[in-house]
Amino acid sequence: MPDSRLEVRRDFVTAPYELVSAKHQRDRSTVTVGGVPFGPGTVTLVAGPCAVETPEQTMESALMAAAAGAAMLRGGAYKPRSSPYSFHGLGEDGLKILSDVRDETGLPFVTEVLDTRDVDLVASHADMLQIGTRNMQNFALLRAAGATGLPVLLKRGMSATVEEWLMAAEYVAEQGNLDIVLCERGIRTFEKSTRNTLDISAVPIVQQLTHLPVIVDPSHSGGRRDLVFPLSRAAVAVGSDGLIVDLHPRPEEALCDGPQALAPEDMAELAGLMREVPLLAGRLVATAPAATSSGEGSRR
Ligand code: PEP
Ligand code: MN
Repeated sequence: MPDSRLEVRRDFVTAPYELVSAKHQRDRSTVTVGGVPFGPGTVTLVAGPCAVETPEQTMESALMAAAAGAAMLRGGAYKPRSSPYSFHGLGEDGLKILSDVRDETGLPFVTEVLDTRDVDLVASHADMLQIGTRNMQNFALLRAAGATGLPVLLKRGMSATVEEWLMAAEYVAEQGNLDIVLCERGIRTFEKSTRNTLDISAVPIVQQLTHLPVIVDPSHSGGRRDLVFPLSRAAVAVGSDGLIVDLHPRPEEALCDGPQALAPEDMAELAGLMREVPLLAGRLVATAPAATSSGEGSRR
């Protein structure tokens, strides 16, 4: 017996992703996170440490990010690591540190959630939930993140096609949540000189296929500090709606991904890039919301 509900859906759904498709919505969407826009017309810089390590390191990183023109902070409290013996993040303590730093600086933050069991806790602190490359097809996690109603930063799976990436976004959208920002972070290829190969063509391709904003992570793409600026320029030039960049006050001491983190001496160049490259591409730089003086409840 055919399921009548499925019959109805099949009539309506004609593609593996509908809600995120540009087919029904030609105008590109703007997703707003704590007052910060991601979308056409702006280039939004998100910057911060790969991992939250201490309150001081997180605050120093946030001040570096703000000084370079970042509108949002990034930082992992739950870290997906290839080895079980590596640093896996501070968990809830890391979330509290990020919340404190947000309240003091006014920078909204994005942080990764790895497990459906942690979604509510992470959502009670974060302005935006990150689904990382390794979890792009964790469908239970996509649904749970979508159901929070918080904006979701969906990284491309390292071996995912563009179509698989957009179908993953559809899982979030299907929960009634269209506040999704896609992030190209490099894919696995045979090339060994970089950590991943930045698929720069994915940016204009997803902008044709979907109305969602798309940003580029030049840090996890190249895996090398010396490639962050060239890849960032390429990303903005090709039309990326923003960048998410790793930085650290002392990269040589970083507990995670130090070799790709920008250092304090790189901040002037990052600020220059944010002043000049978006203008060349005919767009404005998104600015951070003002810090609240009360130091609490700045999350919007
Ligand atoms: C990260 O941004 O910290 C991260 C782990 O990224 P990815 O999922 O792209 O490897
Ligand atoms: Mn990292």
